[in-house]
Amino acid sequence: MVETPWGELPVCDAHVHFFSHRFYTSLAIQKKFQDAAALGPVLEWTIPSQDPVELAQAWAAELDRRGVERASLIASLPGDEESVEAAVSAFPDRFYGYCMIDPLQPDALERVRGMFERKLIRCLCFFPAMHRYSIADSRLIPIFEAAADRRAAVFVHCGAFSMGVRKKLGLPPQSDLRYSNPIDLHPVAQHFPQIRFIIPHFGAGYLREALMLADLVPNVYLDTSSSNRWIAYDSSNLDLRTVFRRAIDLIGPKRILFGTDSSFFPRGWNTAIFEQQSKILYELALDVDQARLILHDNLVNLFS
Ligand SMILES: [Zn+2]
Repeated sequence: MVETPWGELPVCDAHVHFFSHRFYTSLAIQKKFQDAAALGPVLEWTIPSQDPVELAQAWAAELDRRGVERASLIASLPGDEESVEAAVSAFPDRFYGYCMIDPLQPDALERVRGMFERKLIRCLCFFPAMHRYSIADSRLIPIFEAAADRRAAVFVHCGAFSMGVRKKLGLPPQSDLRYSNPIDLHPVAQHFPQIRFIIPHFGAGYLREALMLADLVPNVYLDTSSSNRWIAYDSSNLDLRTVFRRAIDLIGPKRILFGTDSSFFPRGWNTAIFEQQSKILYELALDVDQARLILHDNLVNLFS
């Protein structure tokens, strides 16, 4: 339980990156460093060991310390499902497994089928701008069909995309914003009503489009995670409180998932995001039941 303005409440985090050893190794290769450990002093972050269960233990201990019940863990490199699967097997009551996929890789469908066979990954994460494809590309249909069969969720990153860790390492950004509009998801979300689609960060700059989509298609959810820095793109003095107000007024509290976008140690769970967002919900006069939906129940209901 976490102390909130309504008193103690159960809290789940719908957006935590599982930065595994393999994830850091891929960055070290791009940076031409000898190995993942060499990134530690540059980033001033703790680089995890090769055993993903140790990183899972660190996250479980961190959630305990903060009173957080469960978190969605995102394998943040295509092909890294094994790390999150190991974490979910070790702590099935604490983590929901998510995995980034690049659907244009020749082995993508086979990998996705393997994940669903093993039943540890519950959500596929697409980053169309990073991997340069349209989410409406017909080549993705077999993957969506597999997700629909398994009642898996699908997370689609839209809007501005930047990976803080790449910036910190001076690696060039990898994204093509032409593939980042939530409107592209409209035909897909309509065609696959069994799939629950999650758009993180309120559309990360495409608030209007994300709200249009979520209003028109009932199987679309929004996640609140990160500092929501994209608000600076808006010309109308928008603030995060207004973003929450509009989203709740339009789609109600049942399709909004609280998340932090936490990712690395020693910082661990990003408490500041929780404090900011729970305070906003309180100031918007949500009652305790509505707050509990956003902070906890909606994510649990998604996977129960
Ligand atoms: Zn994220």
